[in-house]
Amino acid sequence: MSNVEKTVLVINCGSSSVKFAIINPNDGHVYLNGIAEYLNLPEARIEWRFEGQEKQSQDLGNKADHDIAISFLNSNILATRPDLLESLCAVGHRIVQGGELYTEPTLVTDEVEAGIEKCIPFAPLHNPAHLIGIRAARKAFANVPHVTVFDTAFHQTMPPVAYRYAIPEELYTKNGIRRYGAHGTSHGYVAAEVAKQLNADPENFNVITCHLGNGASVSAVKNGKCVDTSIGLTPLDGLVMGTRCGSIDASVVFFMCDVLGYKVEEVREIFNKKSGLMALSTTTSDWRGITEGYEKGDEKCTLAFEMFCYRLAKYIASYYVPLGHVDAIVFTGGIGENSYLMRKRVVELLPEVFGAKLDLEANSKARAYLGGSGPIHSADSKVKIVVVPTNEELVIARSAFKFVK
Ligand code: AMP
Repeated sequence: MSNVEKTVLVINCGSSSVKFAIINPNDGHVYLNGIAEYLNLPEARIEWRFEGQEKQSQDLGNKADHDIAISFLNSNILATRPDLLESLCAVGHRIVQGGELYTEPTLVTDEVEAGIEKCIPFAPLHNPAHLIGIRAARKAFANVPHVTVFDTAFHQTMPPVAYRYAIPEELYTKNGIRRYGAHGTSHGYVAAEVAKQLNADPENFNVITCHLGNGASVSAVKNGKCVDTSIGLTPLDGLVMGTRCGSIDASVVFFMCDVLGYKVEEVREIFNKKSGLMALSTTTSDWRGITEGYEKGDEKCTLAFEMFCYRLAKYIASYYVPLGHVDAIVFTGGIGENSYLMRKRVVELLPEVFGAKLDLEANSKARAYLGGSGPIHSADSKVKIVVVPTNEELVIARSAFKFVK
């Protein structure tokens, strides 16, 4: 008899990849995780690991697509673990953009697929891939409910002063041009988690959440609800990111096109893929490489390091406006969870009036890759500062499980 409790299959489809995990929504136990990569390319392959076992991998064949990857997961990988297959009670799908249509996790129907399709203009790389994934998974796992969890949903509580742009109204009302935010599942998770860790009432608790990974954003969360965030219409806005420039004067686009002769597609490519830490350092988009250069005194890496921290500190300071009073600042994501040097610099940059002070030893120990996290503020800090590893898969698993219950 199986001793595996009820589980959820979490699927996160990118344009050429499918990440998957089978999770117990109650305790977060991960039974299986893996990734199919290079889909639609000659080197398409899949890699997976069952809990407590070695990693396995398999070529999927020339130009294998999402359909093939998901059916391989069902017919080959899970076929070896009928108990796990049996335990599946839902599939949860991560969706980057739900526009104003979705403020909650939603049971997948044909109508929801059409809604995700409508939001494609705001996430042209992600939403089409999500749809392919949903369709493939609905075929392969037809006997369980499928639930979509939208990254933008958490930010739908922002007031118009935060989400509108000061441009003609009909561009919003007719065309949906507004700020939508990103990484909402992560911001929502760490905001709730930090309140829990500090024994605070999440509905009476103000927190600034910094999700800092390859993509990065900051949110102001008042009493559990998002009131502002650094990402705008698309994930190009806000902080300096791995290869994205973050906030930039729109006139730079006009100048590049009108005066320098760039095509719009070229500017898009430069701002998304060739900017950010990559452009500043000229060598790497990876924070570990930036930090290494910074510690050795490399001028370009130092500029990248300093700009990243400076812009983040400015956002944190500005979120005292919507929040008034701030109970906690939370760091998460690959950079936020690990880079004690970044956290130290950001807190140093915050003006004294905010009274944010670190416990340097706790800060240095809080590195998720070494198993460290938790509070890093000093006893006399006016604001709690906490490192909370994010767990978007768990949120998706829990959201999907709610529908089954
Ligand atoms: P994510 O997108 O959340 O996976 O984060 C990726 C970013 O986290 C990359 O820039 C990595 O360099 C950075 N990162 C991962 N591990 C570490 C670490 N141990 N120290 C500093 N940065 C890290």
